[in-house]
Amino acid sequence: METNDERRARVAELERLIVYHQDRYYNDKPEISDAEFDALWDELSALFPDSPVLGGLGVDAADGFPKARHVLPMGSQAKAADPEGFLAWCAKAGLSEYIVEHKLDGASLELQYEAGRLLRAVTRGDGSVGDDITQNARQMAGVPAVLPEPWSGAVRGEVVMSKETHRLYFPDKANCRNAANGLMKRKDGVGVDRLEVVCYDAAPSGLYDARPGALFMGEPEPPFDDELTKIAWLRGSGFVTVEALVFYEPFEVVDYRARVMDGRDSLPHDIDGLVVKARSVDIDDMRRARPERQIAFKFPLEEASTTLVAVEWSESGASYTPVGIIEPVRLAGTTVRRASLANASTLRGMGLRIGSRVVVVKRGEIIPKIEGLIENPPDSAEIPVPTTCSCGAALVDDGVRLYCPNMDCPKKALHRLEKWLSMLDVMEFGVTILRRLFDSGRVRTISDLYGLDAGELSSYERMGEASAAKLVQNLRSRNEPSLAEFVAGFDIEGIGLLSVEKAAAAGFDTIEKLRAAGVEDLAAIDGFGDIMAAALVEGLRALGPAMDAVLATGAIRLRPPSGTGGPLSGKSFCFTGELATMKRSRAQALVKSLGGTVKNSVAKGLTYLVTNDPFSGSEKNRKANAHGVQIIGEDAFVAMISGAAG
Ligand SMILES: [Zn+2]
Repeated sequence: METNDERRARVAELERLIVYHQDRYYNDKPEISDAEFDALWDELSALFPDSPVLGGLGVDAADGFPKARHVLPMGSQAKAADPEGFLAWCAKAGLSEYIVEHKLDGASLELQYEAGRLLRAVTRGDGSVGDDITQNARQMAGVPAVLPEPWSGAVRGEVVMSKETHRLYFPDKANCRNAANGLMKRKDGVGVDRLEVVCYDAAPSGLYDARPGALFMGEPEPPFDDELTKIAWLRGSGFVTVEALVFYEPFEVVDYRARVMDGRDSLPHDIDGLVVKARSVDIDDMRRARPERQIAFKFPLEEASTTLVAVEWSESGASYTPVGIIEPVRLAGTTVRRASLANASTLRGMGLRIGSRVVVVKRGEIIPKIEGLIENPPDSAEIPVPTTCSCGAALVDDGVRLYCPNMDCPKKALHRLEKWLSMLDVMEFGVTILRRLFDSGRVRTISDLYGLDAGELSSYERMGEASAAKLVQNLRSRNEPSLAEFVAGFDIEGIGLLSVEKAAAAGFDTIEKLRAAGVEDLAAIDGFGDIMAAALVEGLRALGPAMDAVLATGAIRLRPPSGTGGPLSGKSFCFTGELATMKRSRAQALVKSLGGTVKNSVAKGLTYLVTNDPFSGSEKNRKANAHGVQIIGEDAFVAMISGAAG
């Protein structure tokens, strides 16, 4: 080859020919012999051994995927775990603009394009050579097979699984990342179409190749010297991309991270932090093993591995729920010893045993949860599952839930009383008093509660006459529940406040109408299904006499359907943070009962945001300010509803 230009032209031609003939070959229409094909291959190998077209670097015996080399370097990323570390990096990097993106929690993938066609998809591997999973990648969402222009180069993205997909189809996998990692490398490709690739970087062929003698395949066109235009180019070429925001001050980024952390539960994908980078692309920096002009600004660790030591079965009503006892582990600033296991079926689905190494996850204020199995050591043992209820009945395992089928089971009856008091927000009536009344046989049903008087109550316990009187008065003052509160208070399996509210909104707004409804009527309601409808019909039938008995005491009267025209009619409320005087669900029910509406998010048109922390800088507060929504404290809210109710 005489000149660089000639060499470059021949490489481009060879690459085009190889891609073309590969395609013919795989589609069973070869136009040249194997020997001719090999000659093209050998010539390209001699001229430009790192051509992406040659990618195949043999087959890894361990997982059977062919190996392929990256076009873009996949160096390691600088990391900051807290604002201090991040600010220190900012001081050193000295940037005037910060491009900030969500750091998706998935698996890296490089999509290599040749003349606008997807040639190869390569996993992270060791950073320079990964697995060629092209066949699987072609099935993933967000991977265009053909680009609008005949572009050659590599696009970097993250293979992710949405939380919704994880919940619906892969609940046995520890988390979205594990599920995505496992699925993308399945040889049979099953389920791969449930994955998506979200992209954040791109470079034309040869741009980052720093090896001596490497051929520069093209000019770095304008889209690739600025992170924002790069993202715009990706989007315009048919890729799904992360959102890139621009900030000018390091502290703006710190605040943004706090807001994202606060709202991450409502994002469709898991993220584990932010990626912060310079706006202008610096090729020399990108070639470094650890680029200095970008950093992963991570969230605090909320996931850890530990050992499952034992399983306790917590009894709540009729259900027996497994709780994992784990070797203590530090998680999001607290020491965790117990973790939720959801139900007997998740425990089986995950294949857990006593002694299993497990992944424990804590997100926000949510109870820590065992989300997956890492491995079962040889000395692990089967988890004992109870078979008999304390009432003597054999427990039923319906595949989802382990429960006592005995309608007269004392545990169920006690739980119903607790549920009733909680639903009607009778706060002073504690569990201890209730249990004592229950165990003595004095109170077994909800109607029994309304037969209590202060004198009798004070004789039961070292309780003064005055306290007893206050307790009875408190119980009797909550005498006008809504239909939904009344029915949900009877603790029908699978029927909560919201389901009855939906039925009421659909026209079944009195106890008579509801009890007359058939399974088909209820199943037709939006948000219901056959199972829920059947549970409600059966529950209303079985508990009908108990409901009649409560109404017959005269102590309880159902509040008429509120409809429109309540004192809070036309006003909408959104609650954020904790309330001191009542549960959020109670506050929401009060608003609805007075004709107001409840919103879960702040948007234009909302009347009030109720919060005890109006200056927290939270996403909701910020939005409320932006939309001119009035922010009120709990005191003002309570005053408003007492005024409206009085
Ligand atoms: Zn029982």
